[in-house]
Amino acid sequence: MPDDTESKGVIHATKRCPECLNYVPLRTKICPGCKTKLGDVQKHGMAKRKTDWMAYGGFFVAFVALAIYIWWAFL
Ligand SMILES: [Zn+2]
Repeated sequence: MPDDTESKGVIHATKRCPECLNYVPLRTKICPGCKTKLGDVQKHGMAKRKTDWMAYGGFFVAFVALAIYIWWAFL
């Protein structure tokens, strides 16, 4: 198990942006370099890439609304 020495019990002071590999403070939620949303720090100090579910949700709702409108208007 090669990963255990580094990952267990190590408190990271910084994390790395998965997009541009900048070091940012742990509590940073948005990378100052590339505006990527950052989650919690992971193994090896890399930040979790955060999926913007609100944007997906908004798109999905708009798509469904459009589909319902088309269905309602043409049938
Ligand atoms: Zn970045």
